[in-house]
Amino acid sequence: MKVGIIRCQQTEDLCPATTCLACAAHGKGSFAQLGECQVVGVVSCGGCPGKRAVVRAQKLVEKGAEAIALASCISKGVPLNFPCPNHEQMAQAIKAKIGDIELLNYTH
Ligand code: SF4
Ligand code: SF4
Repeated sequence: MKVGIIRCQQTEDLCPATTCLACAAHGKGSFAQLGECQVVGVVSCGGCPGKRAVVRAQKLVEKGAEAIALASCISKGVPLNFPCPNHEQMAQAIKAKIGDIELLNYTH
């Protein structure tokens, strides 16, 4: 399955999405329900408060993503133990935009 990943812009200095990419490729973490996945793109939320993530999710769908994953740096706050305060609102807005495309709430 083809997937797109949206990660926290604030963690870009700390992580190049290595674990997200490995999980997707090997069907681990939240991708276990989908099997081995091809990543069509990794983008950031666009910065606080995360509004730009909505159109970015749509762009990933246009590029072929059959599911979108919000990375764990958003939902779980890894690696700083600092979840995104806008996570729920961001997820709801993305769901409204991408319709039937599945939205995974974490990656690893
Ligand atoms: S979820 Fe983890 S591996 Fe993925 S981009 Fe965020 S910090 Fe990096
Ligand atoms: S809106 Fe959330 S996910 Fe995006 S940069 Fe800010 S804290 Fe990170």
